[in-house]
Amino acid sequence: MRFSKLGSAAAALVLAGSLAACGGGDDEVEVATETDFEAGTTMAELSEAGTMTVGTKFDQPGFGLLGLDDVPEGFDVEVAKIIAGAMGIAEEDIEWVEATSDIREQVIEDGDVDMVVATYTINDERKERVTFAGPYYEAGQMLMVAEDNDSISGPEDIADNPDMKVCSVTGSTPSENIREYLANEDQLVLFDIYDKCADALSNGQVDIVTTDNVILLGFVSESDGEFKLVGEQFTEEPYGIGIEKGDVEFCEFINETLQENEEAYLAAWERTAGEVEGTEAPELPEPDECV
Ligand code: GLU
Repeated sequence: MRFSKLGSAAAALVLAGSLAACGGGDDEVEVATETDFEAGTTMAELSEAGTMTVGTKFDQPGFGLLGLDDVPEGFDVEVAKIIAGAMGIAEEDIEWVEATSDIREQVIEDGDVDMVVATYTINDERKERVTFAGPYYEAGQMLMVAEDNDSISGPEDIADNPDMKVCSVTGSTPSENIREYLANEDQLVLFDIYDKCADALSNGQVDIVTTDNVILLGFVSESDGEFKLVGEQFTEEPYGIGIEKGDVEFCEFINETLQENEEAYLAAWERTAGEVEGTEAPELPEPDECV
């Protein structure tokens, strides 16, 4: 892809950062040395196994981006490490699986992962298949266009430019939310990952990319001035941690862990998404009831 050079430079920096962490820097996530969970709970099982499998994104700078060492880096990855750490599981004992937008419910239902932390919006339709801990972050949908595109300043302009194509990802909430703003179905181009939308915008195959503001900011920051965000956020996308449906104890444990580790959560933000220009430090939201 076109950003590979920039991408690897960024990845090399991140790698250097994580090596520093091994030397005892600030960005180490705490790993519990003694744990005591009720037998039969997911926490007891995982803690006993000393390992867990986490689904995340591999193509989203700032949230989940595969580094040079084949390990993902980003805020979601750090949030997962905080939760694993509270069960005594160190980051090197986490197996990372790419969970693209369209397969998140499926990998949870199939038991391929123990949890999904992947810019995953909590909504009622998804709640029919998975349980969500969180929210741990509030994003919102926006539009990204080429720097020289002055025709689009918000979703209302899309239908006025019926020849323009809008790119998003299959199975994502933005790909559904955007439909009401289209003049026709042909305007929508869907891929499996956002990286492909960024490439398509770069080579002129599409005119607009739409998804959550924080994901788009990551692509803008890697584009070297080629892309920009336009307009305001026009949806609310509360990010949750997806786990097996009905595992209320695990959900409550995740919520408590994040509430108890707010400092680590904020530090995780600062060294990942917080490094991306235009992002703002979050406040840890009050969790929803676990159902
Ligand atoms: N947060 C949105 C969603 O869960 C968009 C980001 C994504 O596709 O991961 O669908």
